[in-house]
Amino acid sequence: MAAEMLYEGKAKKVFATDQPELVRVYYKDDATAFNGQKRGQIEGKGAINNQMSNLLFQYLAEHGVPTHFVEQVSERETIVRKVDILPLEVVVRNVAAGSFSKRLGVVEGTVLPRPLVEFYYKNDELGDPLLTDDQALVLGLASQEDLAELRTRALEVNRLLQERFAACGLALIDFKIEFGRLPSGEIVLADEISPDTCRLWDKDTHQKLDKDRFRQDLGGVEDAYQEVWRRMKGGLSA
Ligand code: C5P
Repeated sequence: MAAEMLYEGKAKKVFATDQPELVRVYYKDDATAFNGQKRGQIEGKGAINNQMSNLLFQYLAEHGVPTHFVEQVSERETIVRKVDILPLEVVVRNVAAGSFSKRLGVVEGTVLPRPLVEFYYKNDELGDPLLTDDQALVLGLASQEDLAELRTRALEVNRLLQERFAACGLALIDFKIEFGRLPSGEIVLADEISPDTCRLWDKDTHQKLDKDRFRQDLGGVEDAYQEVWRRMKGGLSA
């Protein structure tokens, strides 16, 4: 009998397994941007994002960051712990780009004096709006303790990822992560970390090697994903 599909998102499908505490994630090649208004395919993306995300989740776990990762079962499929995803997207920025540059008029590429953590309300109908801590509290989306924990974890993830990407000649400009709650109440890192969810620039040339190539019609989208994965796999410098 085919496994029951529990959920289909923009880039992934989630299936039940024979263990209620585990689910199987399948990574698609589908790409969307601007809250689903731009759609396309990035050939080979699913396999790269799955494997790269798993490599990074294992690296983060080895450095004390709890995650949902359990086991990679194929190029595009992974078993993860079932969690309730918190309705907040957590963005960390090291360098101005994207919505930060646009909204606040800061030139793309401006190095920020310290990493910045932002929370967004995970709500497609509203276009995932930026959220203040107080708004998150009043809406009951998270507790004060949760927000403090997410901020601390996000900064730790940023420090570790910056180090890992720097070893591959990549500058981590910004990224988005999501957290989930286990039945025990523990919060763990969930979702994915990939060129879909991170801005990654070559550290010397500042060439964009992430989903901005798709968002901004820059061409060479597949090549960029492959280049990031080639560098990550080998752990070599550019
Ligand atoms: O668009 P913005 O500049 O706010 O994006 C910040 C970071 O979060 C980027 O790395 C982007 O790829 C990621 N992001 C994401 N999913 C979203 C929104 C942003 O992965 N829904």
